[in-house]
Amino acid sequence: FAVEEKSISKAVIKRLPRYYRYLGELIEEGIERISSNELSAKMRVTASQIRQDLNNFGGFGQQGYGYNVPYLYEEIGKILGLDKTHHMIIIGAGNLGQALANYVKFEKRGFKIVGVFDINPVLKGISIRGNGIRMMSELPEFLQKEDVQIAALTVPKSSAAEIAELLVQNGIKAIWNFAHLDLNVPKDVIVENVHLSESLMRLSYNLTVAEQKEEK
Ligand code: ATP
Repeated sequence: FAVEEKSISKAVIKRLPRYYRYLGELIEEGIERISSNELSAKMRVTASQIRQDLNNFGGFGQQGYGYNVPYLYEEIGKILGLDKTHHMIIIGAGNLGQALANYVKFEKRGFKIVGVFDINPVLKGISIRGNGIRMMSELPEFLQKEDVQIAALTVPKSSAAEIAELLVQNGIKAIWNFAHLDLNVPKDVIVENVHLSESLMRLSYNLTVAEQKEEK
């Protein structure tokens, strides 16, 4: 089957990485097959939700047999594009950018960091896991020469829009945006926002609600 055959709903796609993670754990435990009920208990998702989600990919489950774990893991991996290597650059080598550049696990998933860029000359040449920090002035030429699919944006809000434009002009089609700004990009450019402070605010909200309940 091909991914293009059928468009998968956004809600399902949002859940796929979690399925992928759980299936990976099952493989590590040497588990070759699992029923939707067992997976449901592990993931705390209803079994019918699991069946519905996984049926999107051509019914890997068989009545009375369950799901073939390695097969499903591989297929979901393909759907997520994890069977390919992606080259990624990081723009903004501040605390967050450096943390991303230092995070080895992305590479294990096929996301190879091929360049780290910043505007601050003090950072020039400082090596992060073998990547010397480059200056922004080198970016256009770098993107002409190198095959880069993804740019992670870890710059302050004030420069994010301008950099996104520069990235788009230089052919970048996927931006992993950590800047606290909703980017305005052409339709064919994919943006995945990771707004850490918004996530923290949701946590704070839930904590506040829980504390209020306790007080009552
Ligand atoms: P972080 O927010 O990632 O923890 P920080 O607090 O060290 O980092 P920020 O002010 O958020 O610093 O900036 C992140 C990085 O982005 C800095 O290293 C800064 O030099 C860089 N930066 C700022 N403007 C630009 C720009 N126009 N182009 C490239 N890099 C930039």
